[in-house]
Amino acid sequence: MLLKINKFLSSDDVSLIVKENFAIDDDEFLDETRLDKNVLLTGEIFKTDDSVTFSGKIEYTLADECARCLQEFDNRIETKFQAAVVQKEDMESDEVQMVITDGIIKMDDTIKQLIYLSLPMKSLCDKDCKGICPNCGANLNNEKCQCENSLTDSRFDKLKDLLK
Ligand SMILES: [Zn+2]
Ligand SMILES: [Zn+2]
Repeated sequence: MLLKINKFLSSDDVSLIVKENFAIDDDEFLDETRLDKNVLLTGEIFKTDDSVTFSGKIEYTLADECARCLQEFDNRIETKFQAAVVQKEDMESDEVQMVITDGIIKMDDTIKQLIYLSLPMKSLCDKDCKGICPNCGANLNNEKCQCENSLTDSRFDKLKDLLK
């Protein structure tokens, strides 16, 4: 994942629009995060006399599991970032940094870091997901189980008992 911006840096332009499709070439990382290897990077790089900053967004898809119904689904994640484009990484700084060498930014590590930071802790396949029935385990998005009725019935039976 290399981003060549040498032409932009030597030009008079103050900003550069970026839209790149990257494929992450790291099977271990992909296995661990369950990510689809295709990542979309968009944004804009701004140049001043003494600094270069990258204001961008990363979009990726991961094989996720719904916390409510436990079904797998493709979760599309977007994460925005602001990074300083630097010649040499400043270990003291807590900014996100991208190192540039000969007008080329090596994106791999920064992108992986941004993905790690944005991985969801708990996901829902849909904000209205109905979940699974705690009694029979049916996925209530796909089927309507009979449990609710029988629960109501048993409560009704107790009432009847009380009335006797
Ligand atoms: Zn769900
Ligand atoms: Zn049920």
